[in-house]
Amino acid sequence: MRPFEFPRELPVFSVLSVASIGGTAVLTGEFDRPEGVREGRAILYRPGGGSIDGELNTLAGLAGTIVVHPDDAARLGPGSKWPYYSGYWEPEFVDAILDPSTAWTRVRLVPRDALKYTRPAALEEEEVVLEAGEAVPSGAKIVGQIRNAFDRVTCGICDKRIGPAFEPFGYRPASNVGARNSLGIWLCQDDFRKFAERRSAAFLL
Ligand SMILES: [Zn+2]
Repeated sequence: MRPFEFPRELPVFSVLSVASIGGTAVLTGEFDRPEGVREGRAILYRPGGGSIDGELNTLAGLAGTIVVHPDDAARLGPGSKWPYYSGYWEPEFVDAILDPSTAWTRVRLVPRDALKYTRPAALEEEEVVLEAGEAVPSGAKIVGQIRNAFDRVTCGICDKRIGPAFEPFGYRPASNVGARNSLGIWLCQDDFRKFAERRSAAFLL
């Protein structure tokens, strides 16, 4: 296993004590700096899918309490240190950017067709549009096809659009290449260079 490296850009939460309260574990601790720290969903980062999902529910200066699932408490002993980021960001997305084993590929976005279908369970027949290749719910009736409807995606960091009418190229993890456009992660070229290529966590602040 690759040695664990703290992403230098992230604030670090040091656990001072862990209490068991009402079926949860409550961590009391302190951040080493305030940048990017806010109340709400909190992710304590470990690479390779080992991050812990919690809730920063009090913050006073650098002191905070984070509530986590009791199953995670064993990994969070007093003295342990955890790079932190706001749970506005999904851990799966962040892991892909910070993981040195993610192979990124520059790809041109090729528009893909959409399928229109009606949902049998809907009160009124409602038309829903899916990208071709997406799983169609059982019982759904395909009623049409729209050529090249999936002709744009947005960058996962800055929301810039990628597609023939916008920026034609983006970056995807190699495992997503060839998959439908609406699946997985896309980054614009600027954010690929600024963050993914350098494994920089600065976009989380
Ligand atoms: Zn971007």
